Amino acid sequence: MRNFISILVLVLFASSAKSQNANNGFDIQAYGRWVVDTLSSPYFKGRGYIKEGDNLAAYFVASEFHKCGLKKFTGARNYYQNFNFPVNAFPRDVFVAIDDQYLICGRDFVPEAGCPDIKGAWNLVWLDSATVANEDAYKSFARRDFSTYFIVIDDRGVTDPDQQKIFKNIALNPFGAKGLIYIRNKITWSVATELSPFPIIEVVRGNISKDSKKMRLLVDSKFIDDYPSRNVIGYVEGKEKPDSFIVISAHYDHLGKIGRIVYFPGANDNASGIGMMLSLAKWFSMPANKPKYSIAFIGFGAEEAGLIGSTRYTMYPVFPLSQIKFLFNVDIMGTGDEGITVVNSTEFKKEFELLDSINIKNKYLVQIKKRGPAANSDHYPFYQNKVRCFFAYTMGGVKFYHDIDDRSETLPLNEFQDIHYLLRDFINQLQIK
Ligand SMILES: [Zn+2]
Repeated sequence: MRNFISILVLVLFASSAKSQNANNGFDIQAYGRWVVDTLSSPYFKGRGYIKEGDNLAAYFVASEFHKCGLKKFTGARNYYQNFNFPVNAFPRDVFVAIDDQYLICGRDFVPEAGCPDIKGAWNLVWLDSATVANEDAYKSFARRDFSTYFIVIDDRGVTDPDQQKIFKNIALNPFGAKGLIYIRNKITWSVATELSPFPIIEVVRGNISKDSKKMRLLVDSKFIDDYPSRNVIGYVEGKEKPDSFIVISAHYDHLGKIGRIVYFPGANDNASGIGMMLSLAKWFSMPANKPKYSIAFIGFGAEEAGLIGSTRYTMYPVFPLSQIKFLFNVDIMGTGDEGITVVNSTEFKKEFELLDSINIKNKYLVQIKKRGPAANSDHYPFYQNKVRCFFAYTMGGVKFYHDIDDRSETLPLNEFQDIHYLLRDFINQLQIK
């Protein structure tokens, strides 16, 4: 309740303080929340590779583009740029029982994203720093036959570089164990484009112990060689220099589902970024707000699988990369109590000065933190291809990430409107040669 009131106060304050931004009746905050609620709902299946969750999300982005009246690039029948890529998916429920205790998928454990099929009951053997630190104990451990075993790896508190090396090597399964179990403090799931050579299960600490003897396991994964995905691309034509483009981008995909029930909502990552991109598309497509330069909006697919959509775009650009005068990628737009971080701010100093001065003048965010280049979202393939670009993500607030708790209900979106204004002002004031 307290959070709710403070959010309400923030929103009221924001809307009165920023009255210089006439919104033409467009409720930015409500729109952002609607996009996040929609894309993170079960209907979209975590926007991954079960029952075409990612495809449904792409269609949603395209239909919002259509509502805005965004233009399609010459010759394109729709907003899509199609591509295929390999991915491992889990269409069926995954079961893990430790001794007689069934664990809850997504909450207590996850199969590692590249986990191959496996079915059966296996013995467990524990390996922690105490064994590794004792040379004799580790030598006798290494001599055992692990062919019917899963090695349970607890690398908690390992700081010694030699021990770290041993644990790194164990990840390659040098003893030929049936599989590995990693003990984690928190589940962080991902997407794999290759099958792992042996099964790996990640179990949250507390669900397995040194005394655990047996695991029953059922994983029925489906490796898809050429899953069809797509980028979604549209633009607003500039009124002065239509051949110069500013790009606003965000990835719409997330991690998808495991089986019938477990799904990863991805509210912060990155329904919030899609909400931000679409709110700007909506704003700049209003006749009164026509920009000087053209603005392209790109919803990338398969970011979580390794920046696949954005990499594909830079290999086969729908319009030439040389026409992109600046690209602004957004990901994780859901908080902002501690401001935002801007990747590449150390590279593109003039643009950063502009962004920072707009922020200070209008008191939008408490800070914009600088960060150098990083390959952590879809701006990166563009940066590698010499396109000037930023990537912004919010800081502070809830920390759910790549887990089943990244839901709209707990995501405050407390700086959503301010970030929208910041980006809007930045786009309007950016000078392009
Ligand atoms: Zn993301």
